[in-house]
Amino acid sequence: MAVEIPTKQTAAWIKNPGPDYELLIRNDIDVGVPSPQEILVKLEYSGICHSDCHNVIGQGKYTDIPGHEGVGIVVQLGSEADPNLLGKRVGIKWQWSNCKTCAACKKGQHNHCPNQGNTGRTVRGTLQQYILARADCVTMIPEGVPSEVAAPLLCAGLSLAGAVSRLEPEVKPGEWVAIVGAGGGLGHIGVQIASNKGYKVIAIDGGEEKKKLCKDMGAETFVDFTKVDVVETVKSLTDDEGAHAVICVAGSEKAYEQAVMLVRNTGVFVVVGLPPLTFMFPMSPLPIANRGLIIKGSSVGTNEQMDDLLQQVLAGKITPRIEVYDFEDSPKIIAELLRYEVTGRKVVKAPQ
Ligand SMILES: [Zn+2]
Ligand SMILES: [Zn+2]
Repeated sequence: MAVEIPTKQTAAWIKNPGPDYELLIRNDIDVGVPSPQEILVKLEYSGICHSDCHNVIGQGKYTDIPGHEGVGIVVQLGSEADPNLLGKRVGIKWQWSNCKTCAACKKGQHNHCPNQGNTGRTVRGTLQQYILARADCVTMIPEGVPSEVAAPLLCAGLSLAGAVSRLEPEVKPGEWVAIVGAGGGLGHIGVQIASNKGYKVIAIDGGEEKKKLCKDMGAETFVDFTKVDVVETVKSLTDDEGAHAVICVAGSEKAYEQAVMLVRNTGVFVVVGLPPLTFMFPMSPLPIANRGLIIKGSSVGTNEQMDDLLQQVLAGKITPRIEVYDFEDSPKIIAELLRYEVTGRKVVKAPQ
């Protein structure tokens, strides 16, 4: 396949990561050359995730180009990459690489590999025209799933498929699952996944737009934290006991402080949203012990969960709410995410 690959490309580049950051659209960023196990992907679409805010505000060690939900076509192969990949449509996830030899990898839970590389963290992210990826870590996108629909599944969808799977074996269909931050890019897909599995979802978020989205996705009820006392409302819905499980998708400290109040004794609390590293879990070990709470961490999901999710999209069971924007809108979208203003998922079209 003769594809002309330029040496320079357009990308969204972070100047001065921190509170005074600027996200600039630059046309002079080098196009990478794949090393033996890598491939070069010409991106078509990229979702923008709340976690990309960590890059721009400099919360930890990240690269100068954010983005970790990209879909595109393989245009160049490293010398050891599978030749069948050339010309294929693939997805680039948060997990860029894994070691395949640690205990987590051997269990098939590559998403918890301690030696993983991450898109946008250890290598430049998907907000560029061309991205380098590991040939063994990309996801094949099935024909019939549009690239702009597949993009937000690669982090947002997968993260909630992973989180909802953590409810098992303790939480049974028909039981209450509260999702905190239910109307955002991750949350709304989680509402649908959990509802499809038969859980009764209490969607917690703010505003009419998010309420409508959560109801459309199958939530049993919506609790608007801007209007009512969330703890009281959830208790009243659940015989005063609290939800059987809580999935905290929101990444703010305030959200966590409230979320831990919503789970019943012997219930499950799933940690998904990512507050700053300085923030500690807001509950003393004493009530955790006395109440028999089960606290589980969840970060993205497994490759099997990813493939299953794409099949569910093909079957019309999962329908992420997306809006497509121009690449130049990326800085504006990041600013909106920082203010928690985005309902559903905003996806940008890569410059062609
Ligand atoms: Zn993400
Ligand atoms: Zn590993």
